Amino acid sequence: MKYGRSYNFSAGPAMMPEEVLEEIAAEMMNYHGSGMCVMEMSHRSPVFQEIRDRAEADLRKLMDIPDNYKVLFVQGGGTTQFAMVPMNLMKNGVACYIETGAWSKKAINEAKKYGEVQIVASSADKNFTYVPDCSQLDIPDNADYVYICENETIHGTTYHQLPDTKGKVLVADQSSMFLSRPCKVSDYCLIWAGVQKNVGPAGMAVVIIREDLLREDLPQFVPTYLNYKTHADADSLYNTPNCWSIYCCGKVFQYLLKHGGLEAQAQRNQEKAAVLYDYLDKSHLFTAAVAPQDRSLMNVPFVTPSKEQDAAVVEAAKAAGFDNLKGHKSVGGLRASIYNAMPKEGVEALVDFLRKYENAHC
Ligand SMILES: *Cc1c(COP(=O)(O)O)cnc(C)c1O
Repeated sequence: MKYGRSYNFSAGPAMMPEEVLEEIAAEMMNYHGSGMCVMEMSHRSPVFQEIRDRAEADLRKLMDIPDNYKVLFVQGGGTTQFAMVPMNLMKNGVACYIETGAWSKKAINEAKKYGEVQIVASSADKNFTYVPDCSQLDIPDNADYVYICENETIHGTTYHQLPDTKGKVLVADQSSMFLSRPCKVSDYCLIWAGVQKNVGPAGMAVVIIREDLLREDLPQFVPTYLNYKTHADADSLYNTPNCWSIYCCGKVFQYLLKHGGLEAQAQRNQEKAAVLYDYLDKSHLFTAAVAPQDRSLMNVPFVTPSKEQDAAVVEAAKAAGFDNLKGHKSVGGLRASIYNAMPKEGVEALVDFLRKYENAHC
């Protein structure tokens, strides 16, 4: 690859589009004649305000976000959202969570600090290798919301159909699939995504929240910073935001708009994932870990028959220039994260490598 860059299959932080990185590099020393780098700018300056406003406007265009939803740029990465969601949305103190893996479990454990959590569906019985049937959920009348992790980064599962929430509002962690396909925002009351998987630099989450859920009357213990309304009222400039991440994410929004929007990106993602899954399904050495109907297009976990061989493949792949293919420590095996910015050639090159490895070792 250009600049000696490697195909980086990391689950996050992950690759960004080369075109975007080049643009950022070109603007590094003097942004649009401002005499400074975006990192050096006041967040209250008109030039930064324009960067922020454009980022929001472009995201709204990209996702066709209805006017009654606010777009927030909040610090604290994804993890802070595990607490902000229950702190802000638990009114009756009851929430329903669907347990599909490590990230929904983290959300569940955090929510338990603020109220009662009912796990209304789970795929724990088969090690989170599928998405449970969510068409007949038993949701109590007093539930404040239903929560999903829409793409489980570690296990490689994704919802191809949203749960039937029986009229309750839906909250989704879209961190590892944000902007990977078209999304009907009005199906959710709140979407959030840590940006370092599929958009930009770590340390920030994008939150898309329906206006009527912003609350004045939060319990006294909720820190000002962790009230969504604080950010909504201040256009995400309540305090110094993660200016750099907002700027870089904005560049990625522009890039996606320029390249056909989310429909076109979804098409590219499907083609890319098919290259890898088709190979894995035919392979005599590797097996894809997830049930075909629930497979993620972003994170592809797979295994060989033994831990030793898994490790040997990871090692050989690294030597051949394919980085970060080791599966998460909790599940083992291998995992190729092929987010929006992974070029198709990267996936083809990986499959080529795996095929050669298989031929040499089987
Ligand atoms: C990475 C990830 C998170 C956590 O993000 P941090 O920014 O590291 O806190 C949460 N949810 C999902 C689905 C993720 O992939």
